[in-house]
Amino acid sequence: MATENTYQVKKYSYKEINASMDSMRVMFDIVRLVDAEECREVNISADGELCFGRECYAVWNADHRCANCTSFQACHTQSKKSRVEYFNGKTFQIQSVPIVLTLKDESPYCCNLELISFTDDAASDAMLQVEKDKWETSGYLSTHDTLTGILNWDGFCKGARNLISNNSEKKLFVISADVDNFRLVNTLFGNSKGNEVLVGIAKILEEMCGSSGVAGRCGGVNFALCIDEKDDLEKWLRQISSKVAELIHSPSFTLTMHFGIFDVKNQNLPISIMYDRSYMALESIRTDESVFYTYFTDELLEQAVHEQKIINEFKSNLKSGQFIIYLQPQVTKDGVIEGAECLVRWCLPSGDVLPPLEFIEILEQVGLIGSLDEYVWELAAKQLSKWKGTEFDKLYLSVNVSPKDFYYLDIAKIFPALCKKYDISPSKLHIEITETAIADEMSGNMAILESLQANGFTVEIDDFGKGSSSLGLLKDLKADVLKIDMRFIQRSSDDDRSNVILESVIDMAKKLHMEVISEGIETKAQLNNLSELGCDVFQGFYFSKPIPVAAFEQYAKKIL
Ligand code: C2E
Ligand code: CA
Ligand code: CA
Repeated sequence: MATENTYQVKKYSYKEINASMDSMRVMFDIVRLVDAEECREVNISADGELCFGRECYAVWNADHRCANCTSFQACHTQSKKSRVEYFNGKTFQIQSVPIVLTLKDESPYCCNLELISFTDDAASDAMLQVEKDKWETSGYLSTHDTLTGILNWDGFCKGARNLISNNSEKKLFVISADVDNFRLVNTLFGNSKGNEVLVGIAKILEEMCGSSGVAGRCGGVNFALCIDEKDDLEKWLRQISSKVAELIHSPSFTLTMHFGIFDVKNQNLPISIMYDRSYMALESIRTDESVFYTYFTDELLEQAVHEQKIINEFKSNLKSGQFIIYLQPQVTKDGVIEGAECLVRWCLPSGDVLPPLEFIEILEQVGLIGSLDEYVWELAAKQLSKWKGTEFDKLYLSVNVSPKDFYYLDIAKIFPALCKKYDISPSKLHIEITETAIADEMSGNMAILESLQANGFTVEIDDFGKGSSSLGLLKDLKADVLKIDMRFIQRSSDDDRSNVILESVIDMAKKLHMEVISEGIETKAQLNNLSELGCDVFQGFYFSKPIPVAAFEQYAKKIL
């Protein structure tokens, strides 16, 4: 019977693993690595490449490996598992230990270290029979999806591996298929209709694959297909899409799908990696209505590796001083400096300075933006406290708040706590939010901002005019400052229509008792124009680019 211990998953670099395994071979008869998803042996070459071997259970020549085996359980529960196997008159004690390897490209690879010893005490046949019976009854369930009846993820991996192994001469594809906006199906037509649709999709996919393909449901509305070459793959996918669209007849809603395709050139890759790559392709077009399928390309992989690198480096360097704030002055039309916007910069050990566009979006996607923003806000608060009693005492600093911060951080508490910790007035800390943060009235974010305003913080709407819901937002949120998006401003001097809109926006903001800041002022003409239109404060390269704090202090000294 399997036993379980709670266990801290060990990490090895690809350089360490082979030496560590050699030292374990003193104690065990077999020491090997197993890719748990597919239960295949895996070796790590000296230069960090993964080389996949035979199915691990081939050694024991039995059939109930994978979804039921120790490796699989160990990896999925992140705990050690041990088990006795009986084969060919011999008893084997197998321990599966989940580990994480850091590969050459810094990406983590989860697999199992299997430590196997031959023992003399034969496991009783009765015990083995119990295990076998358990497998026979649970076998179907462990490979099939209970809702739709088609293969589940494990079943798909097994089925796809079989298909690929038996058709090594053929051109094959692994495809991920997702239904767009499925949430709406449940909302508009109810959960049971939602389930009915999922069953319908599964049936369509299975029928379309026929006997020469495999279809599975990976969870939610994600489906996976493994198929051989079609005369016209696009036509085949289009057929699936139109059959799926038939599942709902509604004038207000059409079921649409997106597909990501991985061309299986290297049949040795684990199915999970093939699927991930097809999914990566799908993700790249998910919000694009003009295409419904695309192929995985090496550029997508490079992009993913790059993003993973950013994420790993971010996690290990956030607090090491690599992230600093640059300040960009905000100046009145009379040339008086009022404060500055804090814009984060990532200073790499190489000396390169990364602008936020290279990492903010990635951090937002993976839910890490909150830790960066909280760190930046603290840098701003610390700076304000350093300026206390100096000539810079009267300046404010404004910080950026990502819409995602509202999910991850308790914003209403963090800002007052920072002011308390650094003994600064809330009026010195301006908070810039974009309209997406409050576009959804149901989010409760509006109440958070109102509580900050009640505590004395200044709330600014950033990038006003960039999105579509700008005007409605002004009605609901009584912000203190409106920052007009720079694209508007840069068009203003040579575009009469933009100027008319700008004038009305500034006029409206004034009537709503808001201050107006124009961003992206690059020329004297823009400054004069905006100033005539009634704008109060200006920010842009015309005055200064964002610069390090010391340089900013030099700059501010001259015009204070
Ligand atoms: P933003 O908040 O709209 O900041 C203004 C951006 O416009 C800055 O880019 C600034 O360097 C640039 N800029 C300022 N004046 C001019 C000008 O006259 N001409 C032109 N062409 N550009 C100008 P930056 O520093 O690269 O920041 C880009 C964006 O990254 C920011 O846009 C903001 O959305 C985001 N960001 C920056 N720091 C943070 C942060 O700490 N947290 C979060 N969540 N986002 C940040
Ligand atoms: Ca901003
Ligand atoms: Ca802005």
